[in-house]
Amino acid sequence: MKDIQIGGLVSFTTIDYPGKLAAVIFLVGCPLRCAYCSNPHLLNVRDGEYDPEKVFDWLKSRVGKLEAIVFSGGEALMQGDALIEYMHRVKDLGFLIGVHTNGFYPETLKRASDFIDWIGLDYKATRIKYPELVGQNIAHDNMIKSLSVWLDTGKDFEIRITCDPRHITKLDLLEIIQDLHSRGVKKIAIQKYIPHFEDNEHGTTPEQRAQYFNDEKLREDINSKFESVIWRE
Ligand code: SF4
Repeated sequence: MKDIQIGGLVSFTTIDYPGKLAAVIFLVGCPLRCAYCSNPHLLNVRDGEYDPEKVFDWLKSRVGKLEAIVFSGGEALMQGDALIEYMHRVKDLGFLIGVHTNGFYPETLKRASDFIDWIGLDYKATRIKYPELVGQNIAHDNMIKSLSVWLDTGKDFEIRITCDPRHITKLDLLEIIQDLHSRGVKKIAIQKYIPHFEDNEHGTTPEQRAQYFNDEKLREDINSKFESVIWRE
């Protein structure tokens, strides 16, 4: 079996796995091409820059110092069986396993769901606007299947919505919220879109990016529907 391909590593974080000291492993490759991608250097599958066995040796040295290891990307689950095997080994070291995912691989998520402890799942836009944002027609359907897989596990998770004003209006956000509420989701995070470059084609104003966060009525409406809403500005 091919090794996992690792393109980056964050050795210590307190914000990528709720309430736990963690490291994040970034895997290369992603089936989507989101307009606001913050990791474009990780999108194409290629040989990773990190030796997975050296990373594993380093993880062994973190036993007792870190509590969780988060697999992110790119889209980590794109690496299928190779990732599942690697995560198994990391789990055997005693770490909690977290995954940040766009939900494109519900079958892989299902196969790994016994030993993944927590996921952060992206809900990127309304169903109708998904293709224009991510460049993939079936991404919304797959993400909903992944949500359903994870809801069946009964394990903790967070849905993340990044409010890019080019792709999400306030009405769109309310449509997404209604969908999540009706599916029984309890915890969400609403994230501000942070542009990585500003020019005439891609530019948005600070006011446009802040509109969801400055609207008290919108915030109250959304807060009232969930157990936990994190507003990440
Ligand atoms: S799913 Fe994530 S990694 Fe993939 S293109 Fe979108 S933002 Fe980038």
